[in-house]
Amino acid sequence: MSETPLIVRCTNCLSLNRVPQEKLERGPRCGSCKNVIEVPRQPLPATAASFNREVEYWPETLLVFFWSSWCLYCKIYEPLISDLIARKPGRLKVLKVDIEAESYLAERFTVTKTPTFLVYKNGVFAVRMDGAPKEKSEFQTWIENLLNYTSY
Ligand SMILES: [Zn+2]
Repeated sequence: MSETPLIVRCTNCLSLNRVPQEKLERGPRCGSCKNVIEVPRQPLPATAASFNREVEYWPETLLVFFWSSWCLYCKIYEPLISDLIARKPGRLKVLKVDIEAESYLAERFTVTKTPTFLVYKNGVFAVRMDGAPKEKSEFQTWIENLLNYTSY
């Protein structure tokens, strides 16, 4: 089964590149500036200052994970999300937003519980989930379906 190529934005010149998933591990280079194309391999902390750019510049699926240090469910979901991004490099980017440190973002998106998940496709808001399901498998199915749905 051949997957649709990844669309990856070069972090150096911001050009979009089409990269077959299997080539990602071989250090592909940007078609415009020849910089090595890299994708995030773990969730990235986002702030009010970086949020918009992080969302707009990511052409594939983006998951925003609103969390708090005292939330038990967040601790349960964290390894699951790290595992997901490790299995789908380039296909998924995850932004972590600490709702206490980034109360502006929590307010902007009216986050009232943790974890809350927002999903963007090619920079456009797609769907959100407020509060995590008790069954991790339910979340797994939800996000896998979103990853398999491409808008290209
Ligand atoms: Zn480039």
